[in-house]
Amino acid sequence: MNPRYDTVLRFAYLLLCFIFIACFSQPRVPRQSPSSDSAVIDDLDGISNAALKNPALDGQSAEKSFDIWKENPEDFYAIVGELPRPGDPVTVIFLPAKDNNRKLEASLVSGSGKRLGGAPFFDWVLDDEGHSVKACVFSVPSTFDGTEAVVRIEGADIFEIRLKERKFVAEEIPLNPSNTALRTVPDPRKTAESERLWAIISRSGGTVYATGPFTPPVAADTRRTSFFGDRRVYRYSNGKSDTAVHAGIDYGVPTGTPVSACAAGRVVLAGERIVTGNSVIIEHLPGVYSIYYHLDRIFAEEGAVVKEGDLIGLSGSTGLATGPHLHWELRAASENTDPDVLCARPILDGAAAKKIIKERGEQIYAELSR
Ligand SMILES: [Zn+2]
Repeated sequence: MNPRYDTVLRFAYLLLCFIFIACFSQPRVPRQSPSSDSAVIDDLDGISNAALKNPALDGQSAEKSFDIWKENPEDFYAIVGELPRPGDPVTVIFLPAKDNNRKLEASLVSGSGKRLGGAPFFDWVLDDEGHSVKACVFSVPSTFDGTEAVVRIEGADIFEIRLKERKFVAEEIPLNPSNTALRTVPDPRKTAESERLWAIISRSGGTVYATGPFTPPVAADTRRTSFFGDRRVYRYSNGKSDTAVHAGIDYGVPTGTPVSACAAGRVVLAGERIVTGNSVIIEHLPGVYSIYYHLDRIFAEEGAVVKEGDLIGLSGSTGLATGPHLHWELRAASENTDPDVLCARPILDGAAAKKIIKERGEQIYAELSR
């Protein structure tokens, strides 16, 4: 063959290969040029500039499936669960943007701007695959009588939440001279015990021992002698009176009834107190505590980790009690919280949280695919 003709053929072949590669290797979705960013942001409501600059989310990559657990473009917050009432717990989740590990706190603020409560976020592992979010749990005060409030995350986000209305029972409790003295006579030991208890329940540890639902510490159908949130009037033996809100449930059980831990947790207090008698407090997840008062005997030990159903003591009538009963109380971020709600549903509902985050992922993917 003519060597010149062979060179031309080789050149033509290479040219064809080049054209072929050039045609079929073009990105199927054209990359955004920097000058078109502003127009794109208008289209992607809620997706920040940073999201668009995330290499995993722009151009070609948006075609592939999008994994919000790995490539969350911006901080995402949501409330898990139904409309709360006064006395109900509120769980807020926070999925930080990639490489964001800010320490944040959520606050509940009334319509008039009063801070009603709040809590710091902690790490919550949702499943065996290791998916995790930040979560915080606090409670709407049982004394709050509005229906509108906001959850404010400092420097980040605000959600409006509507609250269901709720009525509580009123009750009068006559006190004999010794019980009157327990409530009215100043006592440095009483003050110190009160300060210690407040310090414990205001604390927020880092361990999730239980996610709920909790189990009542005595048989669930036990007769109740007082209810959560009762508006109490104490009639003192000296003719005076005082008001209080009942922070828990009183079960009318005879002395010696076994009392069990309502969920797994760590015992943070086990001992005698002047007003509440033999008392046990267990932390179940950061800032969420169960409290057992007026016990005849205590079996739980401070610092021990207990399982749900472990025997922690026997009921009695120690401290300020008008008769044998078990006072059972739950606290979230130091606020008293309705035990029935904590027994009815998980306080950390992994399935519900994953559903919310999956929906958010689908929303971002839809916006990016437009
Ligand atoms: Zn009580």
